[in-house]
Amino acid sequence: MANETLIGGGAPGAVAGAGGAGRELPGIAAALRTRLEVSDDGRVAVAAAGSGAAAALARILLIVAGAGSNGTWSRLKACSAAGCQWAFYDRSPTRTGCWCSMRVCGSRSKSRAYRDRAAVRTGTSRDDG
Ligand SMILES: [Zn+2]
Repeated sequence: MANETLIGGGAPGAVAGAGGAGRELPGIAAALRTRLEVSDDGRVAVAAAGSGAAAALARILLIVAGAGSNGTWSRLKACSAAGCQWAFYDRSPTRTGCWCSMRVCGSRSKSRAYRDRAAVRTGTSRDDG
């Protein structure tokens, strides 16, 4: 039952783009075990049950579910720089960040775009990479 919460609901940026693993994840998640925990102050939480890799995956998916619920999931992104693809948390106020590091990947991407625009203006080619 808790697994339906994890995978269902179509959280923004969900694992759908994860290629083959994304297609298999719903079936894997359906087999994971969770339990309800009630704290001393009466709060109820879902927790991973079992042990090993299955419990670890359940914990990760519970974190994903929580992030989907509180609106932070859409801020977890993959860097758009070619050859990077590092995961990062977008802290920008507008939620439009696209690089893991403005200083590294952002700077490289902007420099490359500038050189490409300059090459178009001057009619030169940048086939050298
Ligand atoms: Zn990057």
